Amino acid sequence: MTTKTISFPVYRFPVFEDKLAKLNRRLSKISGSHSVEVISQERIDSTYIDRTGREFKNPCFQVTVCVPALLNHQGHKFLGVVNFEDGVRTVYATDEGVNFDFSTVADTDCHHCNHKRKRNVIYIFEEVATGKISHIGSTCAEEFLGIDVTAALSFSQSLFVSLEDMDEDNFFLGGGSSGFSINELFSAVSLLWQSDSVYWSSRKADIEGGVSTPHQVFSLFGTDGGRIREELKNNLHKAIKEVGVEKISSLLVEKFSNLDTSNSFNLNITEAIFKDGKVRQFFPDKVVGLVTWAIFKALNDEDETKKEDKPASQWIGNVGDKISLEGQVAKIRSISSHFGHSLLVIIETAMGVAKTFTTARWSDNIQEGDKLNLKGLVKSHEEYRGEKSTVLTRVRIN
Ligand SMILES: [Zn+2]
Repeated sequence: MTTKTISFPVYRFPVFEDKLAKLNRRLSKISGSHSVEVISQERIDSTYIDRTGREFKNPCFQVTVCVPALLNHQGHKFLGVVNFEDGVRTVYATDEGVNFDFSTVADTDCHHCNHKRKRNVIYIFEEVATGKISHIGSTCAEEFLGIDVTAALSFSQSLFVSLEDMDEDNFFLGGGSSGFSINELFSAVSLLWQSDSVYWSSRKADIEGGVSTPHQVFSLFGTDGGRIREELKNNLHKAIKEVGVEKISSLLVEKFSNLDTSNSFNLNITEAIFKDGKVRQFFPDKVVGLVTWAIFKALNDEDETKKEDKPASQWIGNVGDKISLEGQVAKIRSISSHFGHSLLVIIETAMGVAKTFTTARWSDNIQEGDKLNLKGLVKSHEEYRGEKSTVLTRVRIN
């Protein structure tokens, strides 16, 4: 009996059970006395460092199954196959068959029927009790062993392939294929979203000139084998903290998990985002474009809904006015430019949203959520995505 050990993420366990059941149904048609069984199962969690430097835990099972030696039948041990197709001798030996010299097999041998004629395939068996070797032509093999040898061999092969398929995600996580972990992709898209970008498809970018949003996701991580600048790493961490993997996942489930997949675009979106009914933990490169679009769409829709609930925004005062305001710090952003480092402070007031860029001492001691009483000069009135805001300068805090 041989065994096969595979590892796969815990969430894929139902897929594994399904696979095992299918294999055993197929096996029972070839030989009712054999089955593929789990002989050990262990929880071995793997960790993976993604390109943002984050540790990404992947709860895995390591499962060992016994692979029935189907062809060790009727007191015979299967040693291997000699193939003579196209005049080339090719040997497939089982592990136990290594001590047998396959070059001694002639293409006219069949110890079952003893007819001397050219054959394409000859199976080699050893009688366990006596050690007697039999060369059996492929057409006689079923009669000799009492099972369909071709079906049994093809089953053994597909069993290995089918089980190795389960390792796919693990393979991805080990960096064997190119793509993004959920943290990488969602934080990159969050960062782009927060930098007030709009989604650009590569087609639109090609026509109008510019860089597509998926391309920006790729370029965020560079092409130098995944090393990114420290500053960007911090921004990514901050971006995902604010938007959140959980939040994006639940938005994606809410918006895209019940699409009518008879439409090919819907099917592609569903396949890109979900795997086995859950949001993917790993996104291969080829789905990045679609998933990026889906996240932008979900965040945008959510923004629109929020806007509908809010009263229309308004500007405060007139440009050039000196005004006094009371409000709450909604957001603080650190801005780096050629001119150095400053803070963007966004304040929500009963009269509207005010913002100011500052390097003043007072800004060192404030936090999001703080209540402020301030004076300032209206520098300009801005509007972005339908939201009006008033830019203040020379701000002083009371
Ligand atoms: Zn024969």
